[in-house]
Amino acid sequence: MTGGILSRLPLLAKWSGRMIQIKTSHEIELMRASGLVTAGAIKAVKAAVRPGVSTGELDAVAEDYIRSQGAVPNFLGYHGFTGTICASVNNEIVHGIPNPGRRLAEGDNISVDCGAIVNGWHSDSAVTVTVGEPSAEDAALMDVTERSMWAGLARAIAGGRLTDISAAVEQTITAESHQYGIVDHYGGHGIGTEMHQDPHVLNYGRPGRGPKLVPGLALAIEPMVTVGDPATVELEDGWTVVTKDGSRAAHFEHTVAITPEGPWVLTAEDGGVAGLAPFGITPRS
Ligand code: MG
Ligand code: MG
Repeated sequence: MTGGILSRLPLLAKWSGRMIQIKTSHEIELMRASGLVTAGAIKAVKAAVRPGVSTGELDAVAEDYIRSQGAVPNFLGYHGFTGTICASVNNEIVHGIPNPGRRLAEGDNISVDCGAIVNGWHSDSAVTVTVGEPSAEDAALMDVTERSMWAGLARAIAGGRLTDISAAVEQTITAESHQYGIVDHYGGHGIGTEMHQDPHVLNYGRPGRGPKLVPGLALAIEPMVTVGDPATVELEDGWTVVTKDGSRAAHFEHTVAITPEGPWVLTAEDGGVAGLAPFGITPRS
């Protein structure tokens, strides 16, 4: 962190006794620099996914990339977490610990969740990819999860309410003929000078509730979707969250800033241009 950030008191908006950090447009620019590092790290990891690679090796790819950019991994050491990425395979939903002994095979799905700190500003993003070609079932799971994330990002609009995002995520998932599970409890969050800030962003709910969406609010939107029942179990390692029924899960995440011009997806290389186009939104790139 820089002294400038430590010495300045962030402007905070109060909601239900919780504090939400509102950034200046200059601070959002700084968060964009962080977001681009995270985007590059995830791109590098995706390029390294192949049969036989270990999740420990993928972790090293991410850490090397982030440090090559003069940035710092924000997961590493977070409450004692030992990875730069969370590597969650198949029935693991989130928070899988990278492991040199865990080698990927053709047909595995891996969720890579990663974040970086640049000049004290955090970003956070995740993708799920298949090693090789996905089955039709896996392709549909990943597609609906990613689309639900974009639907939520498209509602990161000043003047709306927080649960407009939650409702958009949920409605995208429940519109499918297959009955997917939406993971309870875990969700998105505010982000800024810490990785996890208020407000918590559920992936379901009625629209029109919660804090007002205002320019300068930055959020991580991250749906977690299961093919089967959404019930979860945390493994004895104290981190890995798996589906109770063993069904496969997918997880996508982007960090978005609410700006006067609309959503700016800070962890998307193009700022969200492609992902928001179906919603008629043209963000800055
Ligand atoms: Mg994340
Ligand atoms: Mg997150």
